[in-house]
Amino acid sequence: MQTIISLQRAFYNSQATKKIAFRREQLETLERMLTENEAALDDAIYKDFKKSAFENYVSELALLYHDIKQAKRNLKRWTRKKKVSTNLMNFPASSYMLSEPLGVCLVMGAWNYPYQLSFAPIVAAIAAGNTIVLKPSELPANTSSLMAKLVADYFRPEFFTVIEGGIPETTALLKQKFDKIFFTGSTKVGKIVYKAAAENLTPVTLEMGGKSPTFVTEEANIKMTAKRMVWAKFLNAGQTCIAPDYVLVHASIQEKLLEALKAEIIEAHYAFENNNYLQIINEDHMERLQKMMVPKKIYFGGEIHKETRYIQPTILKDVTFNDVVMEEEIFGPILPVIPYVSLEEAIEKVNTLPKPLACYVFTENKKQKSQILKSISFGGGAVNDAVMHITNPNLPFGGVGDSGIGSYHGKAGFDAFTHYKSVLEKPTWLEFPLKYYPYSASKLKWLKRLMKLQ
Ligand code: NAD
Repeated sequence: MQTIISLQRAFYNSQATKKIAFRREQLETLERMLTENEAALDDAIYKDFKKSAFENYVSELALLYHDIKQAKRNLKRWTRKKKVSTNLMNFPASSYMLSEPLGVCLVMGAWNYPYQLSFAPIVAAIAAGNTIVLKPSELPANTSSLMAKLVADYFRPEFFTVIEGGIPETTALLKQKFDKIFFTGSTKVGKIVYKAAAENLTPVTLEMGGKSPTFVTEEANIKMTAKRMVWAKFLNAGQTCIAPDYVLVHASIQEKLLEALKAEIIEAHYAFENNNYLQIINEDHMERLQKMMVPKKIYFGGEIHKETRYIQPTILKDVTFNDVVMEEEIFGPILPVIPYVSLEEAIEKVNTLPKPLACYVFTENKKQKSQILKSISFGGGAVNDAVMHITNPNLPFGGVGDSGIGSYHGKAGFDAFTHYKSVLEKPTWLEFPLKYYPYSASKLKWLKRLMKLQ
């Protein structure tokens, strides 16, 4: 580890990564690495948790291709010197900001979208001119080792390398001095990362999770709500950080919504055989999820096959905030539905919980929409849709409070790996004597006058 990091630091200090041509070349190499190995990438992720080639393309690779294209297209604009106005006090002068990479960066990925969550921050890190150590999640073992192999084949280690491993390796990595740590994972581990980073005063971006509420008011288009919500919830078998975690529905339409949700699940034919459903990542998660499926609350679904790590898309009815399923982020194919009578009370309750990564509002009522959007703090979200906000790179993606620190995607990603140097540049042909010693009453008078003009 130390050798790799020293090599990267020396390479970074050589200034090579700062050249725009170099950054563009590396982005192209990353793109080539992905396109030339799509079959192997499909194969590895299918082995890990039966993610199909279709879903691998839609929810992992397509987003990466889009990110790479956008970074290449904007590289010059993002790295350009940014002029700002100069205040009167400094006249005559010009003021500007110069972007500079942070240096040697550690990117830690989560398991649920192993390619996207590893490589999307790397697109940003490369565009910003850094060197990178990637630590993918160890849970999907096939994708982790494939990423290590491909990166070693396509990149030189002093620029970009993968270090595989679990807790011991990550703990050792976190003891090293990095110039940036970009972490995706749970809030629990995020705290460990933040503490370790503090030792070296390393800046962090923490992309974490939480329980994302989904409101359905009495004025929602129920059919469309159910269609979009079911897709968003059961994508990746519910193992999505921004999946609707639980539904808060106006009690008067609970039954109609439940029927519509059930009909959508049936119509989607979620099954391994159809290549449109995924396994739960491992047995620990199977057990964790099983505890949430209290039989008397099951409205639809509930089937579990331990041997194949299958959990049927499941809807829980008449759930309350005291139920087990409301104790932690679900991160699986279970959708609890909680009826509410007063929207104000529902909002108040959500505001007593940790700030979520996402929040969704299904309604045709403008007043209720803005009431929810304004009164709840959340990372990002959607109105009459769910999950899709992540696909727009012009929307910075990240959490707030317990769900995250900082954001990325598009320009926000570039900024996450960039420091802006602020520079004041003065010509030498003119100077005012006011600030210089010896001080005098008349100088102070002029200074005060000048301040008023600013
Ligand atoms: P995790 O926190 O268990 O693991 C994330 C990374 O941390 C992995 O690389 C892992 O090896 C490492 N790690 C695990 N335990 C560690 C320890 N004790 N010390 C040091 N490193 C350790 O998260 P996960 O299970 O991979 O992912 C699920 C979580 O991630 C969920 O909470 C989900 O909401 C969140 N998530 C967030 C986003 C986002 O973009 N905000 C995306 C996906 C997942």
